Amino acid sequence: MNSIVTFPNRIPVQEFEERRFKVFTDRQLDKIEAIQDLPEETLFEMKVVASVLPFRVNEYVINELINWDKVPNDPIYQLVFPQKGMLKDEHYEQMAQLHRDGADKKDIQALAKQIRDDLNPHPAGQMEMNMPELDGEVLDGVQHKYRETVLFFPAQGQTCHSYCTFCFRWAQFVGDKDLKMASTEAEKLHGYLQEHTEVTDLLVTGGDPMVMKTKNLVQYLEPLLQPEFDHVQTIRIGTKALTFWPYRFVTDKDADELIELFAKLVDAGKHVAIMAHYNHWQEITTDIAEEAIRRIRATGAEIRAQGPLIKHVNDNADDWAKLWKREVKLGIIPYYMFVERDTGAKNYFEVPLAEAYNIYREAMKKVSGLARTARGPSMSAGPGKVEIQGIAEIQGEKVFVLRFLQGRNPDWVQRPFFAKYSETATWLHELEPAFGEEKFFFEDEFEQMKKGNG
Ligand SMILES: *Cc1c(COP(=O)(O)O)cnc(C)c1O
Ligand code: SF4
Repeated sequence: MNSIVTFPNRIPVQEFEERRFKVFTDRQLDKIEAIQDLPEETLFEMKVVASVLPFRVNEYVINELINWDKVPNDPIYQLVFPQKGMLKDEHYEQMAQLHRDGADKKDIQALAKQIRDDLNPHPAGQMEMNMPELDGEVLDGVQHKYRETVLFFPAQGQTCHSYCTFCFRWAQFVGDKDLKMASTEAEKLHGYLQEHTEVTDLLVTGGDPMVMKTKNLVQYLEPLLQPEFDHVQTIRIGTKALTFWPYRFVTDKDADELIELFAKLVDAGKHVAIMAHYNHWQEITTDIAEEAIRRIRATGAEIRAQGPLIKHVNDNADDWAKLWKREVKLGIIPYYMFVERDTGAKNYFEVPLAEAYNIYREAMKKVSGLARTARGPSMSAGPGKVEIQGIAEIQGEKVFVLRFLQGRNPDWVQRPFFAKYSETATWLHELEPAFGEEKFFFEDEFEQMKKGNG
C-alpha cells in the first residue's frame, strides 16, 4: 500500500496508517496534555523561555519519542522543550518580570528581540561572507563557502517539523525578516550552478527542506538531470524529518512521489545523500522511523548521520556508541560529530572541547570499524571545519592536535596544527597557538579574505 517503489526481494514488513501532523508552538503550551502535570514553575519557565527562543513540537515527538518517566532528564525532552537555563539569568529575569506583570505582546516582543540580538544570531560570519552573486546580484538563499559544495536554502523549507532547543538557525525561525536567509527561485540556483562547474555537491538545507511539498523539491532537483549539470554529482538533503516526522517518507500524501524522486535521481546517476540529523539513539526507536530509513535506502540513496554534541542531551560516550551502532545496523553511515556552535543557548548546551574529544574517543573505542566513520568533534567556524584530532604532549607542552576537515582555502584541508591545551575552551576562538607561536597558520590569510568579503 505504501510502496510505489517495489522491492522484489523484500516484502514490506508492516503497513502504516497515515497520521495527521499536529504541532504546538509557544502560544499552545497549555494545549499540550503531556506537560500539564509538570510543576507550575516549570510551565512558567517554559513560557518565558519560549517567548525568546523558538519553540515548536509535534504530537509524534511528544507521544512517541519522549520517555516521560525520565523527564526532565529525558534527552528528547531536553532537545525540544525550553528550559530555564537556556537564557542567561539576567535575560530570564527581565522576561519573567514582563510575564508576571501581564505585559502586552508588543513589550514582550521588543524585549525578546533585544535579548536575541545579544545571542550571536549569525555565527561564523554567515551573513557577510558566504553570499554568492549571479549577474552582479546577491543570491539570497545560496551559500558557497567551500569550493566543491553549494548550500541552498529553499524559501519553503525554512521551518522544521519540531525545533531543537539548541539550534543555531533559530534566528531564521523567529520571524525577523532582515535575518532570514531564503531563496525564492529555482532558476537562480540553477543559473549559479551552471556557471560554477567546480561545484560537485549541492546541499539542500534549511530549516528542514523535508517540510516542503515534494512538488517543490522536484522543481529544484529534477532539472539537475540535464547534461549542463553533469558536474553536480551529489545531491545532499539535510533533514531531521527522520526523527521528527518519519511519516514524511512513508504515509504522507506525497511520500511515494518523494521516494520516486530519490529513485529517479539515483537511476540517472546522481549520488543522493540524505544527511540525517541525529543526536540520540532514542530518536530511532519507532517502527515508523525504521520504515522511513528502509524506504529511502531501497531507492539507492545513502543516509549519512551527523549531529552536535549537546550537554543535557548526548554528552556521554555510551549514548554516542549506541547511536552509531544503531545507525550502522540500519545501514546509515555515521558522518560528523559537531561541537555546538557559539550562538543561542550556548551556555546551557556547551561542552568543553577537551571533554568533547574524550567523549568521542571513548565512544569510538566501543564500536566496530564500520561505526568509526564519524569524524569529529568538529567546529564549523569562520575559517572552516576544524576537527580535534587528539590531545598530546609534545616536548613537555600539552596541546590539542587540530586539522581542517573543510577550509575556506582548500589548501588548508588536512594540515595538522596545534593549540595550547585548555580544560575549559569551547570554541576555536578561545584557543591559542601552541609552542609560542603568535598566530595559527591560516589567520593572516583568513583576515585578508574577510577584508575582501569572501
Ligand atoms: C559542512 C559544510 C559543507 C559540506 O562539507 P563536507 O565536508 O563536504 O561535508 C558545505 N558548506 C558548509 C557551509 C558547511 O558547513
Ligand atoms: S531540525 Fe535542524 S534546523 Fe530544525 S531546529 Fe533542529 S537543528 Fe535547527
